[in-house]
Amino acid sequence: MSRSPAPPARFPLGLDRMQPRGAAPKPGTDTLLRPQRPLQQAAVDQSRQSAPSGLGLDSAAVRHRMVQRLRDGGLRCEPVLQALAAVERHRFVDSALAPQAYEDTSLPIGLSQTISKPSVVGWMLALLFDSASAQGRGHLGRVLEIGTGCGYQAALLMQVSRSLVSIERLQPLHEKAAANLADLRRGSDLRLVFGDGMLGHAPRAPYDSIIAAAGGEQLPAAWLSQLAPGGRLVAPVQRGGGQRLVVVDHAPQGLVSHELEAVQFVPLKSGVA
Ligand code: SAH
Repeated sequence: MSRSPAPPARFPLGLDRMQPRGAAPKPGTDTLLRPQRPLQQAAVDQSRQSAPSGLGLDSAAVRHRMVQRLRDGGLRCEPVLQALAAVERHRFVDSALAPQAYEDTSLPIGLSQTISKPSVVGWMLALLFDSASAQGRGHLGRVLEIGTGCGYQAALLMQVSRSLVSIERLQPLHEKAAANLADLRRGSDLRLVFGDGMLGHAPRAPYDSIIAAAGGEQLPAAWLSQLAPGGRLVAPVQRGGGQRLVVVDHAPQGLVSHELEAVQFVPLKSGVA
């Protein structure tokens, strides 16, 4: 979750301008949700069952306008745009904030954490998709998310992946996400883990896609070791006085890293609370 500066205005963000640079699971509470029907269908069903919720009579229309703005801003990854159109962001934030849910802004989710602005989420997912497409995949494969937060990004990831492990270190947010994702869970292979995401989640490694919503001083070694061959990791990392989004590809010759634009995410912290 980013809580700040405007993301890059151009999409898809290629790697052309980037500069190359060169465990055991934490005990915790796992919530394993097995697939019973296609992921996309689950979202459609959820959307159909949705009752108006103080946002206006047709949140789908508001959401489509948000998606159109993202498209106009240059986001061209259709699966990601479809996921952004399908997932009801207003259901993941406090009802008082629901009217702002489809603005391109980060929003507080409690415990000093924030939900990322849609353009930042879309940008990061599109970066993962670029790699998946290059591998001949039309989905993100097996995904590891660090920083479940309120579960919004997890809901998007569920739309475009085969399986998702999402880790949160703050128990109240882990529980909030489980509640927020309850309607979607039956259609997904989702494991919500309460634990320290800096350790990754070895039991389900390796992962085709790894995404972090919190930034540390460096990329934890566990994430790199749990990245599958051909996989891509996208995460904020501390650089000087700020953070930069970093992309790491597990290429045939080894791990290849690129740094992208400045970003501002909440800190990656060790341990649980
Ligand atoms: N993707 C989330 C954004 C959450 S904000 C959403 O859509 O809502 C980032 C989250 O990362 C916070 O909830 C924070 O508690 C969590 N976090 C920070 N360090 C972590 C760690 N080591 N392991 C797991 N989660 C962590």
